[in-house]
Amino acid sequence: MITSDDLAQIPLFANVEETERQRLARKAADLRLVPGEWLAREGEDARFFVLLEGELEILKNIVGQFRNLGQANAGEFSGETPIFMGAPNLISLRALTPVRAARFERQQLQELVRDSPSAAEIVFSTMTSRVSTAQTVARATPSSRAYLIGSKYDTNCRAVRSFLAANRIQYNWKPTLDEPENASLSVEIDRTIKLLNPTVREVAEALGYKTVPRHDHYDLIIAGAGPAGMAAAVYGASEGLRVLVVERFAAGGQAGTSSRIENYLGFPAGISGDELTERALKQAKHFGTEILVKRSIEAIHEAEQTDAGHCVELDGGDLLRARAVLLATGVAWHRMDDVPGMEQLHGRGVLYGAGRHEAYAVAGKRVFLVGGGNSAGQAAVFFSSYAAEVVLLVRGPGLAHSMSQYLIDQIAHKPNIRVEPFTQVTAVHGENYLKQITTTTRCPNLPETTQTRDAAALFLMIGATAKTHWLPSTLERNPKGYICTGRDLTTWALTRDPFALETSIPGIFAAGDVRHNSIKRVASGVGEGSMSISFIHEYLALNETPALTTTA
Ligand SMILES: Cc1cc2nc3c(=O)[nH]c(=O)nc-3n(C[C@H](O)[C@H](O)[C@H](O)COP(=O)(O)OP(=O)(O)OC[C@H]3O[C@@H](n4cnc5c(N)ncnc54)[C@H](O)[C@@H]3O)c2cc1C
Repeated sequence: MITSDDLAQIPLFANVEETERQRLARKAADLRLVPGEWLAREGEDARFFVLLEGELEILKNIVGQFRNLGQANAGEFSGETPIFMGAPNLISLRALTPVRAARFERQQLQELVRDSPSAAEIVFSTMTSRVSTAQTVARATPSSRAYLIGSKYDTNCRAVRSFLAANRIQYNWKPTLDEPENASLSVEIDRTIKLLNPTVREVAEALGYKTVPRHDHYDLIIAGAGPAGMAAAVYGASEGLRVLVVERFAAGGQAGTSSRIENYLGFPAGISGDELTERALKQAKHFGTEILVKRSIEAIHEAEQTDAGHCVELDGGDLLRARAVLLATGVAWHRMDDVPGMEQLHGRGVLYGAGRHEAYAVAGKRVFLVGGGNSAGQAAVFFSSYAAEVVLLVRGPGLAHSMSQYLIDQIAHKPNIRVEPFTQVTAVHGENYLKQITTTTRCPNLPETTQTRDAAALFLMIGATAKTHWLPSTLERNPKGYICTGRDLTTWALTRDPFALETSIPGIFAAGDVRHNSIKRVASGVGEGSMSISFIHEYLALNETPALTTTA
């Protein structure tokens, strides 16, 4: 318990009246930390901390990396600047030694500066000096972590740029005009690591991403770090399971590519896919989840009777064991490779989905989007702030039957978005990069028309499909590849009933978009991912496979 005498030792409270000090002490939380424990984390709701004993290191995430900004010692305080600026924590504080700290709510700090002129003077002068330090740090902060020199015609350059953008790594790119066959890519990371023609995985490793698992066995291995996989990771790790998430590309999945998710509970103004992913990643890591990126699960070998858990095979052949597996691999865009030119120009102006990092490349130009769903609608609204003209090509009569009304309304208010109904892309043209597209319009009762127009980019968003061909043939799927679970199963070998999200192979579960009969939404993915953990706990308690967790 914090006492008035504890506070009296601290210069901030030295001239505060005894009755006021007692009142503050009664409302303070008495925190004791061991070395390595966090007192505050950047991005969390701000609180006012007074360090009574011990030392803390001050850390800040600067363009994706933790940087040490110094140390806080007994007698110092923290949190006033974000509180008075109405911002979340601007820095993180971690104990270097055993620490004792008093924690106050925002209201107590406000009362302190209102009632004690001497404390107000100390708090505000400290705040002024911290704002000036923040300016110094801001000036010295590099604007990006990666610097690329590569051709816009080179698919490897584009793959690296997509990876950096999807993982929210700031980068600068100097485009060259080299033809694909002569193109070389040079990448510099943090001004120290230089890579020539690197693979995306090499870039990921240079940035500090984990691509190699720490253990060879886990309680739960999750395939995919979209909303369903991340939710399962948070619940699984927070409930004591040893969890590994394997993500083929970038955490966030489809949701990570969304410019604004407006229907997710708790975010009345909407939340961007980037921000939701960033928050989920922090939460999952906070609970100790291990996440590999730029690795994929390529096969699962069913547990044999005498075996300990399912055998999960990663790309490159690494084999891992898992007592339970969750398939949260979502869906991938339908391709249009049968349209002339489409396959050759894929990645060179013809793109599946709509990465926000393309915004600068299309600034002031005309872009085409194909699709009438919400993802195409969001992308059209997003690109309308950059491109001169956004043309939305829809095969049907309009957007009403496939897009949410709020997006239809937003599109109606954007003068530079044009919707062309009954229209399909019939060819794409360009030698090394997209130059033009040909479209055919078949309006009922009107003659068919064909047009060829200049296009800076063509974004294809025509629905998605579950890519589950790599799973064991005994794992039941519907004719479109979506994974059947629980009551939808027609094959089940055990005498017990399957759990609701369990597949036809006991111990392998599925959640989110990849599951047959799921609702394809962020909230449903998060719900199913979270629920799956409760079924996985029940499954593990059955001890159908021997326990794998041993000491780390
Ligand atoms: C542009 C866009 C906007 C959207 N907007 C909204 C919206 O506003 N509101 C809403 O509710 N929904 C929205 N959605 C739908 C929503 O994003 C999805 O329903 C949700 O992301 C599904 O989550 P998931 O975790 O099941 O799968 P996904 O998000 O698809 O994630 C699956 C992950 O698994 C990875 N993966 C696949 N195979 C493997 C493998 N073998 N090994 C390792 N990793 C693998 C993928 O790379 C991917 O990251 C939008 C979708 C898109 C594309």
